[in-house]
Amino acid sequence: MAKILIIGANGQIGSELVEALAARHGADNVLASDVSPHNLYQAKRYLQLDVLDRAALAALIEAEDVSQVYQLAALLSATGEQMPLKAWTLNMDGLLNILEIARERKEAGKPLQVFWPSSIAAFGPNTPAVNTPQMTVMDPGTIYGISKLAGERLCEYYFTKYGVDVRSIRYPGIISFKSPPGGGTTDYAIAIFHAALRGETYSCFLEEDTTLPMIYMPDAIRATLELMDAPAERIAIRSAYNIDGLSFCPRELAEAIRAKRPDFQIEYKPDARQGIAKTWPQSLDDSKAQEDWGWEARIALPQLVDDMLANIRV
Ligand code: NAD
Repeated sequence: MAKILIIGANGQIGSELVEALAARHGADNVLASDVSPHNLYQAKRYLQLDVLDRAALAALIEAEDVSQVYQLAALLSATGEQMPLKAWTLNMDGLLNILEIARERKEAGKPLQVFWPSSIAAFGPNTPAVNTPQMTVMDPGTIYGISKLAGERLCEYYFTKYGVDVRSIRYPGIISFKSPPGGGTTDYAIAIFHAALRGETYSCFLEEDTTLPMIYMPDAIRATLELMDAPAERIAIRSAYNIDGLSFCPRELAEAIRAKRPDFQIEYKPDARQGIAKTWPQSLDDSKAQEDWGWEARIALPQLVDDMLANIRV
């Protein structure tokens, strides 16, 4: 059977996607890979692989007859601002390597379906912030957001010019308990639960009323798999789809946690990430994803809070 390759498998999303794909397709058919030599989440098949090594990547895809790849390796918004050139190189060249391999394989009659995530960071200060349309002004101010916008254009280009079956989602901030967040501006919404469970006051790096779009990991994984499962002719957008999950600000999240842990305390000490957050949307119009491949978020804030508090081990 043709294989599925996940690049960046030790990350917040990769660690959960490997598990979901293994449950569906059999663990022997799922190749987890990361630049790290350590198989952090005990994937049945794990390889050390640098997405920037195109020759090694192409050789692996050929040797394993890979037919589907999830390219998740990236530097995220907050980390990217500390290392802008590294972020640009990893985020752009990693994607280009996959797209080029997919182009070559299509020409050789061995199609490779590609998933690559964009982000709400691709929007900017002049984007309408509420119910952000699918097609709108995009003027990102972070190197991460600029790489995501450029990546979206590359995806559409490789589909239009070469017929590469590439699909993408503009993920909102993803909340999960299995692995630590990867250095993004929405990380507070995970760290806050760890502080609450340790009985500590949480020092929030965003202002209390900073509303951002978020999504709980099971919804994010389901969105990814539903998009990849959809018939190609249903996928009208080859840049990246808006998907909406839920929106809240730190104060609302703290109140929802306090409903379960009445002693929980929060203080606000905004840092540079506040400057990033205020340029991002508050909610997204995902009607195109609904129409094209039936997207619908299922998990609301009370369920998310219950689940996070029940599952985080501190
Ligand atoms: P993460 O930082 O948790 O994981 C990224 C993984 O990539 C890490 O395990 C890292 O070791 C690996 N990696 C780094 N350099 C590599 C290289 N050269 N070759 C191979 N692997 C390498 O990130 P994540 O949160 O899982 O995000 C995955 C993708 O989803 C990224 O493209 C990110 O931009 C996007 N995204 C994430 C969120 C979110 O909230 N987590 C939101 C929007 C978009």
